[in-house]
Amino acid sequence: MLLEGKSVFGGIAIGRLSVYNKKEHQVKRSKVADAAAEIARFTTARETAKEQLAGLYEKAVKEVGEAGAMIFEVHQMMLDDLDYVESVTNMIGTQQVNAEFAVATTGDNFSSMFAAMDDDYMRERAADVKDISNRVISILLGAESGALSGEEPVILLADDLAPSETVQLDKSRVLSFVTRLGSTNSHTAILARTMNIPALIGIDFAEDVDGKLGIVDGYTGTLIVEPDETTLADYREKKAAEEEKKRLLQELKGKENITLDGKKINLYANIGGVADVAGALANDAGGIGLFRSEFLYLESNDYPTEEAQFAAYKTVAENMAGKKVIIRTLDIGADKQVDYFGMEKEENPAMGYRAIRICLDRTEIFKTQLRAIYRASYYGTISIMFPMIISVAEVKRIKEIIAEVKAELSKQGIPYKDCEIGIMIETPAAVMISDLLAKEVDFFSVGTNDLTQYTLAIDRQNPKLDAIYDSHHEAILRMLRLVVENGHKENCWVGICGELGADTSLTETFLQMGVDELSVAPSMILKVREAIRNSRAE
Ligand code: PEP
Ligand code: MG
Repeated sequence: MLLEGKSVFGGIAIGRLSVYNKKEHQVKRSKVADAAAEIARFTTARETAKEQLAGLYEKAVKEVGEAGAMIFEVHQMMLDDLDYVESVTNMIGTQQVNAEFAVATTGDNFSSMFAAMDDDYMRERAADVKDISNRVISILLGAESGALSGEEPVILLADDLAPSETVQLDKSRVLSFVTRLGSTNSHTAILARTMNIPALIGIDFAEDVDGKLGIVDGYTGTLIVEPDETTLADYREKKAAEEEKKRLLQELKGKENITLDGKKINLYANIGGVADVAGALANDAGGIGLFRSEFLYLESNDYPTEEAQFAAYKTVAENMAGKKVIIRTLDIGADKQVDYFGMEKEENPAMGYRAIRICLDRTEIFKTQLRAIYRASYYGTISIMFPMIISVAEVKRIKEIIAEVKAELSKQGIPYKDCEIGIMIETPAAVMISDLLAKEVDFFSVGTNDLTQYTLAIDRQNPKLDAIYDSHHEAILRMLRLVVENGHKENCWVGICGELGADTSLTETFLQMGVDELSVAPSMILKVREAIRNSRAE
C-alpha cells in the first residue's frame, strides 16, 4: 500500500510503523475495603509522577532550554496543589473508591473548571491538569507511558506532535516522523531536519498500520506499508547508497569552504533552539546564521521571561565558543501563531500583523528580548537581525530602541558587547531600497522563503501552489544580485538564510554573485561544503 503526502526532509527509513496515541485511560469505578491503603497507593504514585517529571525537566533543559522545559516544572507544582490532592484523598476516604477513579474524576472536574475561566492562561491549564492525572493513572495501572515501548527503533506516525510530546521521546529510537497534519515549518519538520531523518506530512494513514513494516521515502513524499520483497530490496539498496554518500561527506569535516579558484565563503547553520547547537557543531558549522528565536515563544505557554531568554541565548553563545551567532528577533504571526499573544484573526495573516510589526507596536515584548540578547552578548559573539523589514524608518526606530536598551543596561551596570546589526531581506520593498538600507546596517540576510512568497504572490503554505512556488524564478535571482551589489557598495556583507541557500544546484551561482555567507539546516552543511569546493567563483 502506498500513501502519498509531502516530504519535509529527504532520506529513506525502513522499519516498523508505530502509531503514537495520546494515552487516555478507561478507568472503572470500584469499591475498596481499605481506604487508607488506597490513599497510600495514590501518594506513592504521585511521588513517582513527580520524579518522572523532574527527570523530564532535566532532559528538556538540555534539549530545548529552560523556557521549553518549564512546563514540566508547572506539572510538578500542580501535583502538589493542595486542592487537587485533597479532592482525590477525600473522594477515596468518603466514597471508598479506587485511586484511579478518584484521580480521573478530580482531573475531569479541575479541567472543566479551568476550561470555563476567562483568563487565557488559566484556560490553557485545563489540558495540563488532564495530563498530570493521566500520568498518575498510568502509574497506578502499571501502564507504559509514551509511544515507544519496545527496544526497536521505529517510524513514528501521529496526527501531529506537540513540542511537549517530542521532548519526551527517546529520539535515538525514531527513524522517521510521519504526520497527518503539520506543515513545512511545524515543530516536527524542523526537528526532523535537525535530527537528519526523513519526515513526511499530510499522510492519511489508518490506525491498523501499527506494527506493520513500512518504508518512508523522503524524496518522493511517500509511505509504503507492507512493501513486497522487490520493493524492499530496492529500497535497501537505495538506503545503502545514501549511507555511503553520508560517510563520504563526513570526510569534509574540518575542511575549508573554499572554491576551486580560492574564494572562501562562510557556511553557517540555521537553528530553532538550544538543542540544535549540538547538530550544528557536529556538522562543522562555522557559526549560527539564523537562530529562529520565535521557537522559544512557540514552546512556551506564556511570554518567555527575560531570564529564560537570556539563559537560552547565553547557552548558545557559550556553546559556539566565540563563533558568530545571529539571533533573529521574534518572527511570529502568519504561519507561526502563539495563543497567549491574543492576536485577532486576520483575512491575510501572511501580509498582516507579524514579526517586526508586532515588535515595533508592542515594544515591551521587543525590549525584553533585546535586553536578553544584549546581556547574552557578553558571553560570545552575537549579531542581531530583524525580520520582515520594509522601510528605513523601521530600521531607524529599531536603532533607537536598541540605544534605549543599551543605556538601561549601562545604567544598571550590566555588562554587554556591541552587536553587529543586520536585517532580513524578505520583502520586495527591502530589495528595491537595499541601497538605502545598506547605509543603516552591517549585514543583510536574504530570507528566500518569504521573498519568494511575496515576489511571486504565492502563499508558501498553500499545498495547491507548491508546483509554481519557484525560488529559482528569474525574479528572485535578479533580486539576489541587486541586494549583493547594493550591500557591497556600503560594506554590508550579504548572506542567504532561506531554504534556497542549501540548494546545491545554485551554489556556484551564489558564489559568482558574490554572496558572502550561506546559512542552512545543520544536516545540509557538509553537502553545501562539497558543492562550494566543486565550484568556481569567477
Ligand atoms: C525566510 O523567510 O526565508 C526565512 C529564513 O525565515 P522563515 O522561514 O523563518 O520565515
Ligand atoms: Mg521569513
